[in-house]
Amino acid sequence: MEMKIVGFWGAYPEKSEATSCYLLKSDDYTLVIDMGSGALSRLQNYINLSDIDAVILSHHHNDHTADVGALQYACLVQEQLKERMGKLPIYSHKEDSQAFQKLNHQATVGKVYEAKGREEIGPFTFKFIRTKHPKACYAMRIELEGCSIVYTADTSYFKELTDFSRGADLLIAETSFYKGMNGQKAGHMTSEEVGRLASDAGVKELWLTHLPHFGDLQQLYKEAAEQFSGTIQLAKEGLTWHNN
Ligand SMILES: [Zn+2]
Ligand SMILES: [Zn+2]
Repeated sequence: MEMKIVGFWGAYPEKSEATSCYLLKSDDYTLVIDMGSGALSRLQNYINLSDIDAVILSHHHNDHTADVGALQYACLVQEQLKERMGKLPIYSHKEDSQAFQKLNHQATVGKVYEAKGREEIGPFTFKFIRTKHPKACYAMRIELEGCSIVYTADTSYFKELTDFSRGADLLIAETSFYKGMNGQKAGHMTSEEVGRLASDAGVKELWLTHLPHFGDLQQLYKEAAEQFSGTIQLAKEGLTWHNN
């Protein structure tokens, strides 16, 4: 499997970039994880939109869903041009029922994921854990052929996240704040917490994402590296991980 960063900013996108959006591919399946602001435009640097098989959303904050509406229009146009057959599935939890209903559209269909169990989407097995965040949000563990990727989505640190991330080949962790700040109230993690999470969970590689619009981002890297001695990458568009 292959994982690529399409958008990585928290809150709003910087010039010509995007908020949360990740592209997960196997040989014959293309899945988009979160669809933040600017994502639809940036995705086209890597795929044809008609190649998207499904979308999955961690939660319904705008920096993870802003381009869902634009994607629905794109699917509608593709359908009219006969470039897409059938409705595009958009997976989400259903705890935000008004937001969930909006996933049902002429060209897309909302699908509820099994947050307490496992969900098979294409060739991937998904497991979920509810995070600590002001809006209902789920972190995801994605497995295929013995490899695993964990995406924390938005959350403050909680100890079950360590078990959930245990032994992952890649941990994509939201790093909204710097060491010494308090992310608990806002529902976000610091660089120090993310580094410790990666270390305690024994992951192989750590990506710092959902980055803030203040401070020196390299500092986030240094602070995470004080806790975690494995490979760390600061998010940037196009950053790609392969399992081989
Ligand atoms: Zn966010
Ligand atoms: Zn959020």
